[in-house]
Amino acid sequence: MSIASSPSSAGRAGSPSSAPSPSSAGSPTSPSPSSPNSQGGSPCPPASPFPALRRAALTTLQVNLGYRCNQACSHCHVNAGPSRTESLDAANVALIPAVLQARGLACLDLTGGAPELHPQFRQLVRQARALGVEVIDRCNLTILQEPGQEDLASFLAEQGVRVVASLPCYLPENVDRQRGSGVFERSIDALRQLNRLGYGQAGSALELDLVFNPQGPVLPPPQQQLELDYRRVLAEQHGVVFNRLLALANMPIQRFAEALRLRGELETYTDLLRRQHRPTNLPAVMCRSLVSVDWRGFLYDCDFNQQLGLPLAEPRQLRDLLRWDPAGEAIQVGDHCFGCTAGGGSSCGGALNS
Ligand code: SF4
Ligand code: SF4
Repeated sequence: MSIASSPSSAGRAGSPSSAPSPSSAGSPTSPSPSSPNSQGGSPCPPASPFPALRRAALTTLQVNLGYRCNQACSHCHVNAGPSRTESLDAANVALIPAVLQARGLACLDLTGGAPELHPQFRQLVRQARALGVEVIDRCNLTILQEPGQEDLASFLAEQGVRVVASLPCYLPENVDRQRGSGVFERSIDALRQLNRLGYGQAGSALELDLVFNPQGPVLPPPQQQLELDYRRVLAEQHGVVFNRLLALANMPIQRFAEALRLRGELETYTDLLRRQHRPTNLPAVMCRSLVSVDWRGFLYDCDFNQQLGLPLAEPRQLRDLLRWDPAGEAIQVGDHCFGCTAGGGSSCGGALNS
């Protein structure tokens, strides 16, 4: 499962009015997406650049294992699919445990494509867990039902992997429109399978988080209120439980930006992000504590910068992390960064100030 400009964000860009968000379609009590004037904060003057940022201590290695995926969502920002062959090579995979140790990292965050399809996924998970490192699997859910992956959910549970899964809406028609026919039902089946293993259950250490992006060029509603809607609908209608809902803003990059540009909405959306910039979100943006690795082993300040092809200020590769500590380094920021600091803030861990 990709992180930024995810299926839910990019896929909705073409039909914002025909794909109602959970908040508008499912619940009279749920909040409306944030409008330009609905949130406070410290607006940035129109021409202000994004503030300069420097890295804090590195805690998380986020690795894109490759573009192979069991799905082929038409809106996927990396065009992942069953026939893609780009894959992190064995030499770079072998470096990962060493880098985790050398840098004393707390978390390995695995993404793709479907990261589980990388031939060394399970070996890598075992190695990281043996080091006491938290492992996040950014899972598209349907992978759990693919032939040959019947034991995947059990493996994740045995290893205590945290599952972060995209479920862009709790309404079947919206999910199927964005991700393919039947994907909602298969996703619900996968969530039930994870629940049976203990994922998302009260008192269990197995964490299951869901990811939401708003429908089109608006900020996400407050994460906590939206989470209550998801919790209620998924429990009542599908018997599904989970730990947290992570509400991510749509980043104005790649296909989402292109779709907005075609509709003449890109400037309005980037203005919205800029005006809703909150300096209080700056210390928590994910690039301060995370480094992102692409399938060739090159490093970026975050997944968004990876998608933009915006390398570190001084280009580096995974192997450099064996000896190089990025703490204190300048971060490559741009106008897209307002997507991280607008409103409640946004990162791959959800809202920054929910
Ligand atoms: S499920 Fe696969 S094809 Fe669909 S958006 Fe995620 S990575 Fe791309
Ligand atoms: S887009 Fe990336 S570099 Fe910019 S603030 Fe967000 S996480 Fe940091």
